[in-house]
Amino acid sequence: MNTGIMIDGVAFDRNDRKQVLFHPYGLPVDLPVTVICGKNPGMTLMVSAQIHSGEYNGSGALMRLAKEIDPDKLSGNLILFHCVNVTGFWQRKRRYVPEDMANLNANFPGNENGTLGNILAAWFVKEVFPHVDFIADLHNGKDNDILEPCVFFPRAEKVTDVALAAAKCLNTKYLIASSNAIGLYGYAATHMNIPGMIIERGYGCIQREEWIQGHMDSVRLLMDHFGMYPLEKEIEKCEQVIYPRSAYVTFDRRGVWNPAIKVNQKVKKGDLLGTITDFFGNEIKKYFAEYDGTIIYYIAGMCILEGDEAIAYGIDE
Ligand SMILES: [Zn+2]
Repeated sequence: MNTGIMIDGVAFDRNDRKQVLFHPYGLPVDLPVTVICGKNPGMTLMVSAQIHSGEYNGSGALMRLAKEIDPDKLSGNLILFHCVNVTGFWQRKRRYVPEDMANLNANFPGNENGTLGNILAAWFVKEVFPHVDFIADLHNGKDNDILEPCVFFPRAEKVTDVALAAAKCLNTKYLIASSNAIGLYGYAATHMNIPGMIIERGYGCIQREEWIQGHMDSVRLLMDHFGMYPLEKEIEKCEQVIYPRSAYVTFDRRGVWNPAIKVNQKVKKGDLLGTITDFFGNEIKKYFAEYDGTIIYYIAGMCILEGDEAIAYGIDE
């Protein structure tokens, strides 16, 4: 029999759905969470959205799934974090925690005596992760990245097999190994042996029905894969490509961006990826592929700043 769970002193009972606003360590933020505890025993799946505020489609998916999932049919527990960077959301920011510019995909394990982003991270590590068996973190391409739906799975010895097996059940084309050890899912995978993944779908700080549906289907497929919840409709899958290695182009100066690539395009080593110029079109620098591979996402905006990571491509093995 499922016995329910307890998170930060709040009890969630078997065969029940409860929605609460958490205030981690007394922070003046309202963190919206739905916990659905199934009638039957099973694993605990945590799904999070908007650790980067402005990546709305995951939140759209979780709002609907929170209503849809019937505790009577659920085995195990589902913890839905509707919007983690909630102050970023209300200040209409496009990624980071506005109070301290923390990137919640790169500031774990945090510090409960630190600034807001660090306190949030520390709260997850101490109060949430110990109750969780798998993490699915829903994202979009950042801001003006155009992106093909993809999954990042952890390259962390003890959890890679479980995470990759789960990624293979999904409706995303590219599966990319990641060595992130300081993000929400990356820290949990690397330091706490909790398998997980990032699922990326959509872009542009907008919500779009097909992207919300796609994220909902990803969560449904995961729950089916883990034996938590039966699929209630057939979900169309796509062919998948696994990239054990990927390459990222980081710009070393600012300029006006003229991309020469498209998403899903095959590139060969030495192919032009794009050029940065001044506003008069005078070339500042050309950027070339360093490997044979396939473009997964790139900045489609025009403004490039020094340090921007603007292109990701999977390396053909
Ligand atoms: Zn993101």
